[in-house]
Amino acid sequence: MTHAVKSRGTDEAILDRLFDSMGVAGVYARTRQYEDVVDALQRLISRHRPESAEVFRFPPVMSLRQLERQGYLNSFPQLLGCVCCLHGSEADIAASVERAKRGADWTQDARAAELVLSPAACYPVYPIAAARGRIPAEGLTFDVAADCFRHEPSRDLDRLQSFRMREFVRIGSPAEVATFREGWMQRATSIAEELELPFEFDRASDPFFGRVGQLLAANQVEQALKFELLIPVRAEGAPTACMSFNYHRDHFGKTWELIDENGETAHSACVAFGMDRLAIALFSIHGLCLEDWPHRLRKTLQID
Ligand code: ATP
Ligand code: ZN
Ligand code: MG
Repeated sequence: MTHAVKSRGTDEAILDRLFDSMGVAGVYARTRQYEDVVDALQRLISRHRPESAEVFRFPPVMSLRQLERQGYLNSFPQLLGCVCCLHGSEADIAASVERAKRGADWTQDARAAELVLSPAACYPVYPIAAARGRIPAEGLTFDVAADCFRHEPSRDLDRLQSFRMREFVRIGSPAEVATFREGWMQRATSIAEELELPFEFDRASDPFFGRVGQLLAANQVEQALKFELLIPVRAEGAPTACMSFNYHRDHFGKTWELIDENGETAHSACVAFGMDRLAIALFSIHGLCLEDWPHRLRKTLQID
């Protein structure tokens, strides 16, 4: 069967068949068929896991202080979600509930807890690595994942507020980290080919906040600090970034005092897989019916 006669999964069809509404744009209940594909993608990525990688699965929240320390508020304050709770005595909390019953906005009484919703899967791993002391000669490699939140509400299904991110992270010398990132761009090529997805690579920048941010973004592109693997998820318009390949230079090394055996500040890089974007790309390009997917792809994903 060719792509032309297959029904391409549009946002409307995916929303109708694979998700259910939760009342807010960019936050969806996922059905079994969709989750089976996400699980299959997770297994596929695990088969590509570097042998030396240590595995962590993080909760959807992380320390507010840790995120502040790495400078997130200077870079992406517009994306951040913060956990707020009703603090105080039982009487204080009861008063808030009473206000809510009268139709007032009880959330005005809530104050920040020590937590934010994690905006990326790799952030908690750097302080964990730093707490162990010097980075060993061969560097460190991690396999991490988390449910991530970014305040970028949209009706497009490839831009969610809550989505799954899986990452491989490398901490080491600039040369080790460069080799890792280059190797992963190669490997990502073969993963996209295995998934029979059309793709291209491009240099990219992060959505740094404000006017100073525009300079940071331009600098990021110029220095090729970020590449994306882009897939034409929708029939028209710009392709969607489904994986990214990020070189942080010594940003996390300096923030967390990641020091190698020679006393040098370590560098880091990560390769990030947008699990929901990869699943949506598969449904969008190969159609909504798993039975119609190419036989080889079904074998690759072990969903035969
Ligand atoms: P974009 O340029 O599309 O906003 P990004 O540069 O913000 O993407 P990264 O910060 O590199 O993306 O995040 C790593 C991966 O997480 C992305 O390659 C993508 O697959 C996924 N991702 C990022 N933002 C979202 C989102 N809002 N919804 C779904 N997946 C996302
Ligand atoms: Zn990362
Ligand atoms: Mg973004």
